[in-house]
Amino acid sequence: MDSQAKEQLIRAVAATIFQHSEELTALDQAIGDGDHGLNLKRGFEAVTAELPGLAEKSWPDLLKAAGMAMVMKVGGASGPLFGTFFMEFGKAVGTEPDRAALVAAFAKAVEGVKARGRSEAGQKTLLDVLVPVQAALAAGADAAALKAEAIAAADKTVPMQAIRGRASFLGERSVGHMDPGARSSSLLIATVADELNKQGLMP
Ligand code: ADP
Ligand code: MG
Repeated sequence: MDSQAKEQLIRAVAATIFQHSEELTALDQAIGDGDHGLNLKRGFEAVTAELPGLAEKSWPDLLKAAGMAMVMKVGGASGPLFGTFFMEFGKAVGTEPDRAALVAAFAKAVEGVKARGRSEAGQKTLLDVLVPVQAALAAGADAAALKAEAIAAADKTVPMQAIRGRASFLGERSVGHMDPGARSSSLLIATVADELNKQGLMP
């Protein structure tokens, strides 16, 4: 992927977050402290502020820089988690990733998030999107299937009770609301899948 294509991908991901910032904040108002949309908006503003230079970097360097920006600017629980995801992905992905490299890097990144959050799937967090998407990716899903899996997985957090993060303080009252981090993760994955498909890099 050349730097122009990388820049397009980064801008598309950021645009999705900007478009959904209020929705994400509203979800976090229901079961958290109402800052998730703003947190991610601040993070992706910091990432896009590094363009076009950021897009000229190799994937490992680009993802390291993006991850560090997330840790520094997003804060809260989700900053270090998204930051870890990007940085671990970057460490594993290599400079010209093929499908196998993508699968391996996604798995490493998910392991990093689990370790950082001391969490696993089933606790009503972003891992409830990342883990099923990882499985779909490993099973050979195409872009449309990955996108559908991500969106459906976020929906499935609605009936769950939160066991990690701020929402866990609500106990049973966390049931009946979508997890904000699961929703934002699904939007990011859906956008990346769309962009890779548009660029002819994923069927
Ligand atoms: P904060 O909770 O500090 O306000 P955000 O509102 O930005 O941070 O992000 C909240 C999201 O972070 C949750 O919806 C959840 O998906 C995710 N999250 C919080 N704690 C954890 C954890 N320990 N493991 C995995 N994900 C978590
Ligand atoms: Mg919050």
